[in-house]
Amino acid sequence: MNCLKCEQKAVYDHLGLRLCKDHFLRYFEKKVADTIKKYDLISEGDKICVAASGGKDSLAVLYCTMLYCRKYKIEFFALAIDEGIKGYRDHTLDDLRAFCKEHDIRLHITSFKENHGSTLDDIREKAMKKLNKKPCTVCGILRRTDLNRAARKLEATKLVTGHNLDDESQSFMMNSLLGNMGHNASLGPITGLNLNEKFVPRVKPLYFVSEKETRLYTFLKGFKVNFAECPNIHLSYRSVIRDKLNELEERYPGTKNGMVNGFLEILPLLKEKYKGKKAFSYCEKCGDACSGKICNACRLESELIQ
Ligand code: SF4
Ligand SMILES: [Zn+2]
Ligand SMILES: [Zn+2]
Repeated sequence: MNCLKCEQKAVYDHLGLRLCKDHFLRYFEKKVADTIKKYDLISEGDKICVAASGGKDSLAVLYCTMLYCRKYKIEFFALAIDEGIKGYRDHTLDDLRAFCKEHDIRLHITSFKENHGSTLDDIREKAMKKLNKKPCTVCGILRRTDLNRAARKLEATKLVTGHNLDDESQSFMMNSLLGNMGHNASLGPITGLNLNEKFVPRVKPLYFVSEKETRLYTFLKGFKVNFAECPNIHLSYRSVIRDKLNELEERYPGTKNGMVNGFLEILPLLKEKYKGKKAFSYCEKCGDACSGKICNACRLESELIQ
């Protein structure tokens, strides 16, 4: 099968679109740049912090953000959080360091150990036994907190994340099945509902590209990526939803696109309904915005670490 735009052999074939290597790379980068422009994810005067881990999504988003920021002369840098997952994160961080060096990107790394006094490996058993919490729940809370605090300290105006079409359709499905429609109101290409000065807005340039497309992009670009998965992922609810959605996509191609496009149609209504519903205050321990007296990260620290 040949590319629809030239005579070269197609390396990509989805929903009737067949592309060769060069045309696929252009298609991917254009799709990302169009998303940035359409949703105003990055603008002149911004200082962009890219949340990176060294995994394929983060290298793809870091590279595409780099192309965009260098083209429009916008300041940007990379930020990584080392959760402390032995045999996994140490390898992806090595890949990230090498990538940033090769492309001359400023990289900041901070860790759970530095910020909370413990690695994820150190607290995962206790989290499961004492709090009945999955490692991903703990990891997600501490990681979101650390990214936000570090991005704020480094005076970033936006935090770019590598969330793609698969992540978004999974989140929408998870929240819907769990009855957390209010959480869906915080999704979308720009995350967050009740923004405040303590929160660096999160933006998702890979919003409309799928996991498969990202994987192909990093492969064709020759990025050194460790495709191994985090050892904790199989314990999460998200992995169950991911497998179900992949099954559906396999049988009915276009499912994830349909889901996310449908979700974007109702997102303004959800935002309208849930905006301002949850009063926020400031955490008594760390001063971050939260919905109770103590933020989730400080609560976890007191339950698991101190
Ligand atoms: S899979 Fe779970 S534990 Fe592993 S890095 Fe992601 S959120 Fe953290
Ligand atoms: Zn072509
Ligand atoms: Zn706090």
